[in-house]
Amino acid sequence: DNAKKTILITGGAGFIGSHVVRLFVNKYPDYNIINLDALTYAGNLENLTDIESKPNYTFEKADITDEAAIEALFDKYKFDSVIHLAAESHVDRSILDPLAFVKTNVLGTVTLLNAARKLWKGSMEGKLFYHVSTDEVYGSLGEEGFFTEETPYDPRSPYSASKASSDHFVFAYHHTYHMPVIMSNCSNNYGSHHFPEKLIPLMINNIKNNKPLPVYGKGENVRDWLFVNDHARAIDTIFHTGKVGEKYNVGGFNEWKNIDLIHVLCKLMDKKLGREEGTSAKLITYVTDRAGHDLRYAIDATKLNKELGWEPSLQFEEGLEKTVDWYLENEKWINDITSGNYQHYYEEQYAKR
Ligand code: NAD
Repeated sequence: DNAKKTILITGGAGFIGSHVVRLFVNKYPDYNIINLDALTYAGNLENLTDIESKPNYTFEKADITDEAAIEALFDKYKFDSVIHLAAESHVDRSILDPLAFVKTNVLGTVTLLNAARKLWKGSMEGKLFYHVSTDEVYGSLGEEGFFTEETPYDPRSPYSASKASSDHFVFAYHHTYHMPVIMSNCSNNYGSHHFPEKLIPLMINNIKNNKPLPVYGKGENVRDWLFVNDHARAIDTIFHTGKVGEKYNVGGFNEWKNIDLIHVLCKLMDKKLGREEGTSAKLITYVTDRAGHDLRYAIDATKLNKELGWEPSLQFEEGLEKTVDWYLENEKWINDITSGNYQHYYEEQYAKR
């Protein structure tokens, strides 16, 4: 139902969050969308320039671990629902600094749950706390099998351990305090506005600039890839029609070995840049594998498909081509990140207002 709702979206300046914010702001003009983000290195308000002046959109700079700030915002806006995406999200960074991941992903999530519980203590009717999580909480698969919603948790990196912990807290609040929660666990996303240290944008950018393409180990690790806009559509579907107290796996039934994916990208980039086929692949360079690198993730999204009717809208080749085109057409976006300029956007656009 499209009754007026005030929705808090956390992490909306990040990669997936910005797609979710854009979808909700454009699709639901009657909703009040508040984007809360601390603007860490991963938060970039330039992701949202196309919707920032819409009347149903507000940005609030705050850290989800800052209890006083979070409570004040819950008090100010009286949110009906929360869609929680803010997180430290990069596995490699979690290996260097696990505690930062515990702070944001665990403490931050519990801080939001507490604020929601306090605001909603009179009545939880019509309220919803939607927690966005990852398939990495399920651990690593061998050559066969899929993660289902019943697969036991077996996180193996500091990142996935912190996300698993936050998932447990979300359901603990459901069972202990009757908090209306819903959760989804999604596979690897790709698409526009992806921070260029992640695999696909990194490869596109390095191919363009004739830089080496670093491939972990032998490139044998398998990931399931989903177009980020399809993840945002899944979140919309689950938010509006999912069952409270349940979780849904989101994935593309689209598994790729890293090295095969990189070859597809090289071929696509050769075509786009008018290079002779095989030119970009010469940039591939094998580097020491990531510590504890999970071999294979594969998600079974049957429940979401059968119960809520969601399915990916695009084939992988189509999504990859759209993605490559976006990065080639948006040089300024990438250059602003590589130069660090994007971090001044908030000061220029917001802080002086
Ligand atoms: P991202 O790193 O691009 O964005 C995270 C956002 O959260 C940034 O804007 C950052 O500024 C903000 N943030 C970080 N710490 C914060 C804090 N303490 N307070 C407030 N804001 C803070 O991440 P993403 O890839 O868009 O992932 C979003 C969510 O989706 C995460 O919860 C992640 O675990 C989950 N997820 C990601 C993927 C993927 O493939 N990227 C897949 C499945 C699930």
